[in-house]
Amino acid sequence: MNIALFRNLFREKKLSLSHPRLLTYQELSNAVSPLSSLELYQNLLKKSKKIGLTSIYRSLGLFESLGIVFKITNGSSVKYKLCELENHHHHIICKACGNVVELNFCDISDWSKKVTEVTGYQVVDHQLNFFGFCKACIPLQRSQSAER
Ligand SMILES: [Zn+2]
Ligand SMILES: [Zn+2]
Ligand SMILES: [Zn+2]
Repeated sequence: MNIALFRNLFREKKLSLSHPRLLTYQELSNAVSPLSSLELYQNLLKKSKKIGLTSIYRSLGLFESLGIVFKITNGSSVKYKLCELENHHHHIICKACGNVVELNFCDISDWSKKVTEVTGYQVVDHQLNFFGFCKACIPLQRSQSAER
């Protein structure tokens, strides 16, 4: 999501675009790979930006609830990636290197129908993550399993 859309979203939702929120957004948009709140904090400190870890943490929580960032939990590590796609979408995460790719399609209407059939619920939302190995990590996985 680019800065113009980001600003628009905050305006639409009547949320204030505070300094910590803007800094957190900017740092995430500069990142080449997903970052933890501590890494974001350290990056901003290096640039002599005045921001507290708690503010970053809170901003990330807000971004996540707005669907702007994707939270990647791997054991005890939690990292965040700024979403490029603006509308509803899904992600696939590499189990080896943690790379994330956004999927610009969602084809689960049959599944939703089935859920309604079985439960009687009206489905209004869903979350779905895919996990696997990226192209770079597949050969490494193969050689690792060959060693065993
Ligand atoms: Zn995303
Ligand atoms: Zn990988
Ligand atoms: Zn979907």
